[in-house]
Amino acid sequence: MTRSQLRPGLTLVATPIGNAGDITLRALDALREAEVLACEDTRVARRLMDIHGVALGGRPLVAYHDHNAAQALPKLMARLREGARVVFLSDAGTPMIADPGYRLAREAVAEGIPLSATPGPCAAIMALTLSGLPSDRFTFAGFLPTKSTARRGFLAEMAAFPATLILYESPRRLAASLADMATVFGPDREAAVARELTKMFEEVRRDSLGALAEAYAADGAPKGEVVVVVAPPPPPGPVADADIDAALRAALATMTVKDAARAVAATLGIPRKAAYERALALRDD
Ligand code: SAM
Repeated sequence: MTRSQLRPGLTLVATPIGNAGDITLRALDALREAEVLACEDTRVARRLMDIHGVALGGRPLVAYHDHNAAQALPKLMARLREGARVVFLSDAGTPMIADPGYRLAREAVAEGIPLSATPGPCAAIMALTLSGLPSDRFTFAGFLPTKSTARRGFLAEMAAFPATLILYESPRRLAASLADMATVFGPDREAAVARELTKMFEEVRRDSLGALAEAYAADGAPKGEVVVVVAPPPPPGPVADADIDAALRAALATMTVKDAARAVAATLGIPRKAAYERALALRDD
């Protein structure tokens, strides 16, 4: 498809994640040609359109987000059924990637309404490409749970998965989350923290989880937005009893027997039952 000619149906428009210059030519065409513009926040969308000289004219610019979906969704669906060309943009990056858009896209698909997209920036993908970590297989797991117990349980489920892991995290929780990752995945696992991507103070720190956790604990919460990228676990090999015990002891210092066993079993690739029995014995020592 060439640049112009937005088709009837819903088009998901990716927008910059910091640097306004990262909007694509097709995204600008879609914003110019749409009959209805739906967006996460109308002020953010207006600012982007102003920067790029896209006039709204008399066209409706409507807010659509998780909190108003019950009212906004039926109205947008009605316009889509009439054959309108509707675009949806979130505040930054790719819609639906830790952002609104899912229910709208799903309803459109369910009703056979054409769904298209103008692809573009996504913090997860940019962080992966800058991380220096394997990119052949990766998992995007969105935002981590905010409470440490839930976070560790969540991480334990991912610990043995043989893929690079990408997470969004708030700068306020970064140090605590990195410390939990160092506990659950082991402190030597390689990782990267990508901050303020495409912006003036863009920075990528690459180190072991243990070192990153210590550095951010010492420096305090960084400014701006961050993505954490964690290397996959090393391929499983025979594990020495002493290594299992050391990992269990470290985990038991902060976790219940069950969580410690689950985390260590996942990290070292050993049966959970064996890890649990050994954790019980170590606890009772
Ligand atoms: N839809 C967006 C995307 O495609 O990346 C993500 C939106 S989500 C609400 C916001 C989170 O994305 C931030 O908390 C941060 O983890 C990440 N993020 C967004 N922009 C970023 C940037 N410029 N640098 C680093 N992380 C960013």
